[in-house]
Amino acid sequence: MQHNKIIPYHNFVLRNLLQRKEPIDKSALSAELKVYVKILSDIYEADGILFHNHKVIVPTEWRSDMLKRIHEGHLGMDKCKALGRSTLYWPGMYQDIENVVSRCITCNGHCRQQQHESLLPHPVSEFPSGRRQELISLRCMVKTTFL
Ligand SMILES: [Zn+2]
Repeated sequence: MQHNKIIPYHNFVLRNLLQRKEPIDKSALSAELKVYVKILSDIYEADGILFHNHKVIVPTEWRSDMLKRIHEGHLGMDKCKALGRSTLYWPGMYQDIENVVSRCITCNGHCRQQQHESLLPHPVSEFPSGRRQELISLRCMVKTTFL
């Protein structure tokens, strides 16, 4: 990837909005730029990167790549959204993540599998190696919850 060598048109337009002194005619803006105008006071630039509430604003040109990265672990809908929300921002990001994850057989198969599984208590005291059984149960729970 050569992202740092290209200045995305998206960021060029957004910087112009940020630097604009005169009132902005919202009727002339796209739906996405209208969203940016509403949150303009929360947008800032640091080291050439635009941020919204400490999250990197992802230019239009890089969003499909970011969506691939968010989704590459097949974590399912909630965790993919949480992953995106933790560091990235763009208007409609949740909808874009939903569009990708809802079409993914792996994520949806994994979610259905998780929903049907239930954790059953193990009779740990019946086994002489109870501590070992406890660890195996914990590993199974971690595996089904996070993997
Ligand atoms: Zn997936």
